[in-house]
Amino acid sequence: MEITHRISRREFCRVGAGAAATAAFPPPTFAQSTARVVVIGGGFGGASCARALKQIEPKLQVTLVEPNRTFTACPFSNNVIAGLRSLEAQQFGYDKIAASGLTVVAQAATAVNAAARTVGLADGTSLTYDRLVLSPGVDLRFDALQGYDEAATAKMPHAWKAGEQTLLLRKQLEAMDDGGLVVIAAPANPFRCPPGPYERACLIAHYLKSKKPRSKLLILDAKDTFSKQRLFQNAWKELYPGMIEWVSLSQGGKVNAVDPATNTLITDFGNHTAQVANVIPPQRAGRIATIAGATDNTGWCAIDPVTFESKSAPNIHVVGDACLAGGMPKSAFSANAQAKACARAIATLLSGGSPATPKLINTCYSLAAPDYGISIAGVYQPKNGLLADVEGAGGVSPADAPREFRAREADYAQSWFSTVTAEVFG
Ligand code: FAD
Repeated sequence: MEITHRISRREFCRVGAGAAATAAFPPPTFAQSTARVVVIGGGFGGASCARALKQIEPKLQVTLVEPNRTFTACPFSNNVIAGLRSLEAQQFGYDKIAASGLTVVAQAATAVNAAARTVGLADGTSLTYDRLVLSPGVDLRFDALQGYDEAATAKMPHAWKAGEQTLLLRKQLEAMDDGGLVVIAAPANPFRCPPGPYERACLIAHYLKSKKPRSKLLILDAKDTFSKQRLFQNAWKELYPGMIEWVSLSQGGKVNAVDPATNTLITDFGNHTAQVANVIPPQRAGRIATIAGATDNTGWCAIDPVTFESKSAPNIHVVGDACLAGGMPKSAFSANAQAKACARAIATLLSGGSPATPKLINTCYSLAAPDYGISIAGVYQPKNGLLADVEGAGGVSPADAPREFRAREADYAQSWFSTVTAEVFG
């Protein structure tokens, strides 16, 4: 839910400083300092957690399992779609992580035996663990929208995992005639990066405005409200008047089916044929989480908010997009914060101690144009078995800020990305 109350930046920083301090408390002493921790998934959550574990207790044997040799980051991938950035600027290798004293195994995890505490790998080998961390991100649900299967992504890209799909959507926009219709189908909550579809709409409109100004962009939405809604809608009016139309769930925006052969999106209220169709389908936790027995009937992983241990699979912790983190949105910022809190809890558990109650921060920046940033921030702590918003902390950018303020927030967005990727992969 959108945080509607606003606080001053100073107040946010004060709460935030407390949260940061929670993540940086002194290391515990270890009864089992040579314990083995396996981390599955070398993205924002998994790579952050593996590194934090090694930093907290260098004697731990930490293994990071990730099949790809290069990680392609989603934050700022909307800029690639809009022709404002290269895909290479989104890509990071694992060499520095491997050099930091942990083992990187370039394999996919294919099996988890929670009773025997083993992870099976695609090459037939296996790893044993004392504690396992899962951060596999999301899987796209190809059973949720009739007609939208894996083959359909070649015609109607989701671009919700950065890489080839990002480039395909970019190419389709470049090939489109001036006057064409671009349609974005946005899913219901919860899904990866709640403000992402609306940032994408802005940056595609930024491209169309200068190169194909007679074109239109339609957002068909499976919900009635969305993150930073007022700020986005103000930006659409200010920057792209008449170009972006948003159709909410109650106005008939939910896409039920698609026809890739004709690029048609089908709702209860009618059909829309697009020149470029970006279909962002519903999602669930990456499949290995289900194999490990960590997902519930929502398709996501319920966790203990102090330790991030799965509520259904003992000794298995889940961070990042795959977990149900209460009020915390599925973002790279959240994944990184959860990963550090989880690493700290695992280190304490392995030493026989009781993990301290964490406080976590999330800030999601979005760009409405390259020099126009907006943000939403929150602070979260365990409450009634979930990670709940800390009352009075967090908020969104002011609705009436001058353009210099928006330009500064665009700079902060870039600084955040540089900082987090240097911390995780540098
Ligand atoms: P990921 O970062 O996706 O990492 C998952 C990793 O697990 C992958 O490398 C994958 O290969 C690996 N994996 C999966 N299965 C296995 C397996 N079986 N064995 C081994 N490895 C496996 N967040 C922000 O904070 N700010 C933003 O501005 C922002 N912008 C975004 C824009 C877009 C368009 C999108 C789509 C997302 C954006 N996000 C943003 C969200 C962010 O990308 C995710 O929330 C974040 O990547 C989640 O981290 P994660 O570790 O859960 O998953």
